[in-house]
Amino acid sequence: MQQGNPSFYQYTLEELRELFNSHELPPTGPALLFNWHYKKRMKVPCVTDLAKISRTFVAENLDFTLPEVDVVHESQDKTVKFLFKLRDGLKVESVLIPFNGKYSICISSQVGCAMKCSFCFTGTQGLKRNLATEEIIGQFIGAQRWLTENRPDDDRILNIVFMGQGEPLHNFDAVKKACEIFLNRNGLCLAPHKITVSTAGYIPGLERWKAEMPDVNIAVSLHSVIKEKRDKLIPINQRYPIEEVSKFAESIPEGRMRFVTYEYLLIKNFNDSPEDAHATGKFLAGTKAFVSLIPFNPFPGTEYERPEMSTVESFKTILDTYKIPVTIRKTKGDEILAACGQLNTKEDRSLRS
Ligand code: SAH
Repeated sequence: MQQGNPSFYQYTLEELRELFNSHELPPTGPALLFNWHYKKRMKVPCVTDLAKISRTFVAENLDFTLPEVDVVHESQDKTVKFLFKLRDGLKVESVLIPFNGKYSICISSQVGCAMKCSFCFTGTQGLKRNLATEEIIGQFIGAQRWLTENRPDDDRILNIVFMGQGEPLHNFDAVKKACEIFLNRNGLCLAPHKITVSTAGYIPGLERWKAEMPDVNIAVSLHSVIKEKRDKLIPINQRYPIEEVSKFAESIPEGRMRFVTYEYLLIKNFNDSPEDAHATGKFLAGTKAFVSLIPFNPFPGTEYERPEMSTVESFKTILDTYKIPVTIRKTKGDEILAACGQLNTKEDRSLRS
């Protein structure tokens, strides 16, 4: 394995096949490598059936280095937050969220974020850079290895959500490739409805999604249908208004999308009133929408507060009258700043000390 060579984890199976083909290597190699690295999780000593010539090629030309696990925080509810150190020293976070003895993983697509949403801790960091495909895949593999080592009895990660740091559709190519690798039958073989990519509503990314994205779920961060409020929460609403985002998301054809979830962050005395709920109900009634209500997770220095649970319930009751399927997202991992919107690589230093 050579550092400085292209990373094995940046290749989709198809690309690896092209690489093998261009070097006239046996065509069975790529699927064997995918199987061993992703499905078998390298538990057996090596890819025994890989031809010697391919094994030499791989050893001399590909790099298998993954982001380093720098810090791990475990919360009482079994949520685990990872801080990964990337090759250039920058850091990025991922979170394992437990459910029924299994896990969902929330992964990051960028270091920081350019969106500057006023309620999001990551946004206060600004954008440092996009993650490469192998750095996205590496978060999954790193978390998986940690689980297998530390919680061998319940080490299954069954869902992937791109809801960590960054705007996934700002880093379309790497996110798309990572989804293709996650879905590949020779690889992790995740079912399409197990992957969700969340966006603040970046229409150029949705345009590409319509033409190129594999079949995964889309989540749109809604948070308000009232222009002045959404403009304040998600500044790109001024450029790409939610009406257009929503139309676009709903028009993505089957085969490129499973279903649309609208995430609605509830902030005390800002977007949590019965009027807000009715406006949201009217906006979404008759669409294919699912709504996920997220009580705001506070972070150091924020002007916003989390509403009472009774307010969240009342909001849901109003949406129910519009026949919109609604769930309330349970907050997990907030004592280690691992809940939605609490990821901020800088702040982690103080958390550690
Ligand atoms: N950029 C993408 C994905 C990252 S945010 C997007 O905007 O969708 C993932 C989810 O966490 C979004 O729904 C976002 O609105 C939510 N979120 C961000 N900050 C939050 C906070 N402080 N409390 C609760 N949810 C938050």
